[in-house]
Amino acid sequence: MPGPSVLTRRRNAALAAWYAAHRRDLPWRGETDPYRVLVAEVMLQQTQAPRVVEPYRRFLDRYPTAADLAAAPAADVLAAWQGLGYNRRALRLREAARRIEAGGWPAPGDLASLPGVGPYTAAAVACFAFGRQVAAPDTNARRVLSRWLGRPLDGAALRDAAAGELAGDAADWNQAVMDLGALVCRPRDPSCGRCPVAAWCADPSVYEPPRPQGHFEGSTREARGAVVRHLAGHGPATAEEIARASGLPVERAAAAATALAAEGMIDADGGLLRLPR
Ligand code: SF4
Repeated sequence: MPGPSVLTRRRNAALAAWYAAHRRDLPWRGETDPYRVLVAEVMLQQTQAPRVVEPYRRFLDRYPTAADLAAAPAADVLAAWQGLGYNRRALRLREAARRIEAGGWPAPGDLASLPGVGPYTAAAVACFAFGRQVAAPDTNARRVLSRWLGRPLDGAALRDAAAGELAGDAADWNQAVMDLGALVCRPRDPSCGRCPVAAWCADPSVYEPPRPQGHFEGSTREARGAVVRHLAGHGPATAEEIARASGLPVERAAAAATALAAEGMIDADGGLLRLPR
């Protein structure tokens, strides 16, 4: 297999020098405990790093090990998740902790078998916790690599491109690309004038903004959040009771409850809704 091109080697050398001087100081950086890495990566799936810092510390104070999380009631886990949103992640994380407690960690190449762990999170945990030399391109890296290579990248094409660019220690390289994306190569206003790799960047205009959320999607999420919050704070209730307390129309509360029950996020027993034990 041919080695990296001269262009790639120069770009990576400039990136590494920049990263050594500008890397972000985040509490999960350098962490190698698989459980703590998994908690960070699940929190980072849909929440920006600065907003994850405090919830990450708080959550790990409360649940320092996978065993602690596995044994926790759903309502307590959701309370500890407050501020992050997308509550489904919290319950999936608890389910993953239960699987780990019951059967141990999957092999590093099989981490995506855990609940709530997709290709990116699996690659990140394999790299940061288990030392695998694999690329783990997050949304920041997707943007950076798309601009470097001059074409929009996603999915398997993104993972292949990242694997082809990866050089040196994989954990450092992954974090360097993420930090460049967060600090310099921002979505709408990349600071190309102070970018360390500008000489080897194909097209700064390549950027696909995230798909805007339609009103319906926002409303559905809002209703789901209201149902879960109510059950976590007040215990079992009917959709009508939740609607009355939250101000949601009954049909929206009921539709959200039906969807949550179908996904296993809540239990529905004869019209009485509750969080899973
Ligand atoms: S030159 Fe501009 S677009 Fe290219 S990586 Fe740097 S900041 Fe991003």
